[in-house]
Parts: sequence; C-alpha cells; structure tokens
Amino acid sequence: MAPVIYPTTNLTATEQLCLDRGEGIYVFDTDGNRYIEGLAGLWCTSLGYSNQELVDAIAGQLGKLPFTHMFGGKTHEPAMELANRLADMVPIEDPYFFFGNSGSDANDSHIKMLRYYFNAIGKPQKRKIITRDRGYHGVTVAAGALTSLPANLAHFDAPVEALDILRTASPHYYTGRQGNETETQFVDRILDELKQQILSEGPDTIAAMIVEPITGASGVIVPPEGYYEKLQDLLRQHDILVWSDEVICGFGRTGNDFGATTMGIKPDLMTFAKQLSSAYFPISAAVIPGWMYEAMIEPSNQVGVFGHGYTYSGHPAACAAALKTLEIYERDKIFEHAATVGDYLQAQLRERFSDHPLVGEVRGKGLIAALELVANKTTGQGFDGAVAGGFAMKACERNGLILRAVAGNSVALCPPLIITQSQVDDMLDSLSKGLEETWDHVR
Ligand code: PLP
Repeated sequence: MAPVIYPTTNLTATEQLCLDRGEGIYVFDTDGNRYIEGLAGLWCTSLGYSNQELVDAIAGQLGKLPFTHMFGGKTHEPAMELANRLADMVPIEDPYFFFGNSGSDANDSHIKMLRYYFNAIGKPQKRKIITRDRGYHGVTVAAGALTSLPANLAHFDAPVEALDILRTASPHYYTGRQGNETETQFVDRILDELKQQILSEGPDTIAAMIVEPITGASGVIVPPEGYYEKLQDLLRQHDILVWSDEVICGFGRTGNDFGATTMGIKPDLMTFAKQLSSAYFPISAAVIPGWMYEAMIEPSNQVGVFGHGYTYSGHPAACAAALKTLEIYERDKIFEHAATVGDYLQAQLRERFSDHPLVGEVRGKGLIAALELVANKTTGQGFDGAVAGGFAMKACERNGLILRAVAGNSVALCPPLIITQSQVDDMLDSLSKGLEETWDHVR
C-alpha cells in the first residue's frame, strides 16, 4: 500500500482499482480494462474524460499566467469573465460570487458570509442553519456539520452545537412515510414538524436552510410534488433564507441549468462546484445576492479587509476551465441533451428494473438516478448492513460499469452528461448483469 490516507474509504481495505486513462464516458484501468464511468467520477465529469478543448484551455492559461491571487483587489480576466458569465445564468438578483476550490469550502464560505451579513445588519442572533437528515454538504469542519450522514459524523466530533446547526426530516417518502400516509400527508407532516421546530427555536435566530434540490450521496432523493413550494412558503413566512446546494445538481444534471429550476426552488444563496469545470480543475463558487454583498461592505471597511479568502480563490487555470466548460455547455446544448437522454434513462430504468425482486424504488430526474435495493420488495424492508449495495457495486464493476453504492443499499447512477442513448443501453445492460449477480448472492 502506498502511504495514502484514502478519502471516504474503509481503512482496512486494500487498494481497489487503479485507473490509468479516460476517453469520453469510459475509463481504463492499468490492466487496460474498460469501464463506463456511471457516476461521472464523483458526480462531476460532465463533459467526459478526453475533452481536448478543456485541456487546451487549461494548458493555455497555465502557459500564460499559471497563478495570481485575488487578495487586495488583484484580479485577472478569466475570473472577471467567469463571474459575469455566471451572473447571466443564475436565478439570483444582482449576484456576487466567492470563488474557492471545493463544494465544502464554498459551503463554509456561506456560513461565514451569513454571519458577516447578519452581524452587519444588527441581527447577530440570526445564525442558526437548518439542514436535513440525509443531507450531504461536504466534510470540512463547518460543512461537515451540515452533513447528516452517519459515516461523516461518527468519531469526528463535528461542532454541530457550536455552529448552531438544526436538523429536520429528509423528504424521502419511500423510507419516511408512516402507515398508509399519502405523499401529500407525508409532506404536510414533516413540514409541520419543521414549523414547530422553527417556532420553538425562534425564527429570529435562524438564518437559512440548506437543501440539495435532489440529493446525491444520500441516495438521490427526489422530494414529492409540492414539497419545495410548501417549504419555501414556510421559510419565507419566517424570514429564513433559502440556500440551494447545487454542487451535484448544478449545470445540467437534472436536465435544466440548475436543480433549483427543475424543482421549483427560488434560492437566495447557491453553492457550485464539480460540474462548474467538469472537474478538470478544482473550483467552487458561493453565490450571494447583491443586497447581502452591499451590507458586507461597511464592516470590511471598518476592519480594513473582508478577511476571508483562499490562496487559490479564483485560480486562473480553474477559471479558464470553468469558462470553457460553460462555453461548451451552451454551444453544444448540453443541458438540452441531458434532458432528452435523461428522460430516456429514467424511462428505461423504470421499465427494466421496477419489477426486479431486489429493487424497492427507482428514483431520479434527468441524468441522476438510484435504485433502492431491499430485502423484501412487498414491505420495503431494507437489508441489515450494506450487504446488497456493496456487492452490487463490485458486481457492476466486474461487468464494466463503475457506479456507487450510497446510503447503504442504494446504487446511484450519474453518468457524464455527454452520454448517448445507446450508451445508456450499454450501461443498463451492465447494471442488469450486476444486479442478477447480487440477487444470486443475497437471496
Ligand atoms: N455539496 C454536495 C451536494 C455534494 O455532493 C458535495 C460533494 O459530493 C459537496 C457539497 C462537497 O463538495 P467537495 O467534495 O468538493 O468538497
């Protein structure tokens, strides 16, 4: 073993798979075996693996100006151009962008900017943030406290109380419903619980609520119809900001520009990373409205600076990668393509797998989906431990498909947005073989 602490890995495991190169939607290991990258890496390589235009844009920038920082108002063309381009896309009025390197650090930046803002307007007590059970928002100290997945919290002593993080129910009807509750009754119940929580905490102590429009790491949960409309009404009534974490859903994944568009969310804040640069270079953006930015000016003047910034905030090569990515999205109509092929993927998944004895629920939108593997299809009873998910992931890999087991026994698909319909067929053929092996193993 190389002396690497492998991220999000069971540390008793030996090294699993060594990848060597990629081409389109495929990756190849060091033995030359080819796999469909059914999770686009970690939900991120939207334009696939051998996009020469992206490589050239990054190399060109590295050759010209490989680094300059942005402290003290220093700037460069790619960063300004990127901010202007994003400003034309996002559904936030007069938006401002704080650039970073990862989804986690962008969420941290948001927590800090929320505090900065509410301190500036004389409401320092408005600092709590609501997150949802099964939410994933990253792993830095602050973003990790917003994350609700047990593996990301256990043993780390995340400062949840110190950061005033509140948790509320996940909008997953399949696993969260009680008795014969309808979807509407389920939504009304969990939102009523949230309302009681807001009232007992005091609305004037709550700054924002963070949501993934459709979740990723917790198993691609698509909330029931009407959930976001009612949720937003509740939050607006109590003057709580709506924060859309678009790290996975942003830039075409759900068949629209943003997950917020697909799910009818009108966000005040947004977080971008991953597909912002098709993952060819790390970059993130924390997006805030102009009225928040305006309020932050005076305190920064009192101190002398807005004292938050990373060495690599607005890294020139990262900005060049993002600019080229956005250009390709628009020129090649990638979001429209994702919508069309996404509809096909969703229909095929339901047609081919809904009746499978292992599959309790098929869910997703656009080019993101998951199958929930269950021990008892009739009752929806899950497995004890991640026995089916982990096996299925390995079985699919043996059949030429990389996907990811998430939330125990769900298997998630999130291929590069450039995937074609016939490649979707190939992907689902491999999935089918992997599921048959899993069924033979668990039954
Ligand atoms: N937010 C969401 C919704 C994510 O899915 C992720 C990562 O998967 C993050 C935040 C954290 O991003 P990063 O891993 O770049 O820190």
